[in-house]
Amino acid sequence: MLNILSSLIYKVRKEFTEMILDVFTGLKKLSQAMKKQTAKQAASLLLLLTLPFVSVSVYAINITVSIPPLAGIIAPLLDENDHLSVILKPGASPHGYQLKPSDLRRLQTSDLIVWVGSPVDSWMQKTVTNLEKTNVDLAKIAGIETYPVRSGGLWEVHHHHHEASEEAEHDQHEHEEHEQEHAQQHNHHAIEENATSMDGHLWMSYKNSLLLVKAVSQQLQQLKPNQTEQIKHASQAWLNKLQQTHNTIKQQLKLVKNEPYLVLHDAYQYFEKEYGLKGVGSIQLNPSIFPSLKRVADIRARIKKGAVKCVFKEPQFPEKRVLAVTRGLTINVGSLDPMGIVSTEFQQKNHQNFMNYDQFMIQLSREFSDCLTQNNE
Ligand SMILES: [Zn+2]
Repeated sequence: MLNILSSLIYKVRKEFTEMILDVFTGLKKLSQAMKKQTAKQAASLLLLLTLPFVSVSVYAINITVSIPPLAGIIAPLLDENDHLSVILKPGASPHGYQLKPSDLRRLQTSDLIVWVGSPVDSWMQKTVTNLEKTNVDLAKIAGIETYPVRSGGLWEVHHHHHEASEEAEHDQHEHEEHEQEHAQQHNHHAIEENATSMDGHLWMSYKNSLLLVKAVSQQLQQLKPNQTEQIKHASQAWLNKLQQTHNTIKQQLKLVKNEPYLVLHDAYQYFEKEYGLKGVGSIQLNPSIFPSLKRVADIRARIKKGAVKCVFKEPQFPEKRVLAVTRGLTINVGSLDPMGIVSTEFQQKNHQNFMNYDQFMIQLSREFSDCLTQNNE
C-alpha cells in the first residue's frame, strides 16, 4: 500500500516537474520574443497552465472494501488512478476476522468504504461508525433482498454464544463439541450477538449486487464530480455485462435444478433461490462451530440412503470437516468458493487480488454444475 502510494506520488511529482520545466521553457521563449513580459504575468500564466493538472489529481480516490467479492462488484466502475484495497486477504474466511492495525490505517485514509453490513463483516462496524467516512453498506441499500438464516432439518439450528459469564452455563456436551475452536469463538461472540437472524451472505444475490453497483456509482459521482459521465457510462456497461452473465448462468443451472446437495456452511441461500437449486442442508451453519458427532452420523445416514448427490467443501475451511461426513461413502465431493480466491499467478497477471463479479458467478455456477452432473461412482 505504502509502496504503491509512494510510487504514485513519485510519478505525479515527476510528471509535474517535467511539465513545469516545459512551461518554463515555453515562457522563456515567449518572454524573449515579447521582451516586455513581466515576472508577475509569467507567474499567473504558469498557474493557469498547471490548474487542469492539479484538479485531475485531486479526484483519484482510495476505496476500501471488507471482502474480495465486493471488490469484484465495484472494480469496473473505477479508473486507473483510483486505488482499491480489500481488507480480507485471499483464502481467509470473513467469519470471526478481526481488524489489524494496518487495516485501521487503510480505513482511515479511505475516501470511500464499502462493506456488507451483515454478520459476515460486522468486525468493521465499530470502526466505520467511528470514522464517519463516506461508506456504502450493502445491507442498508433500499430494495435489498434479505432472507433469514435457515434452520431445521439438515440446516443446523443457528445457536448463539454468549458472554464469558454465561458460557459456564452451557452443558458439558456442547463444550466438548466446541472445544477445538474455542479461541476463535471469543471474537465471534460479540459479532453474532448483535446480529439479527438475517443471512448475511448478501453479495451472493445477483440482484443485490446490481443494487450495489448503482449505489457505489452514485457515491463515486459525488466524489469525482468532473468524471460523472465516465462513471455513468462505466456503470451502465457493467450492469449490462452482469445481466448477460446472469442469463447464461440461469440456462446452465436449469440442468441441475433437481439434484439435492449439502454444503459445508450455509453461504449459498441467495444463489440457490435465484437459480432454483436444491440445497438440502449444511454440515455446519455457524461457521465457527464444528458439527457434533450426532449431527455427522445423521448426515451420513442421509447420504447412505442416496438422498444427496454431492457434498461441497470450501477452501476457507479445513477439509476434515467434510471428510468426517463423506469418509467411506459413495458420494461426489465438490468445492464451492463464496469468497472467490484467486491464485498468485492471477494476481500478478491482473494486478488485483480478487476476481471480477461476473467471473466469480461463472465460477460458482461451474462448481455447482460440475459436481451435480457427475454420476456417483
Ligand atoms: Zn459465510
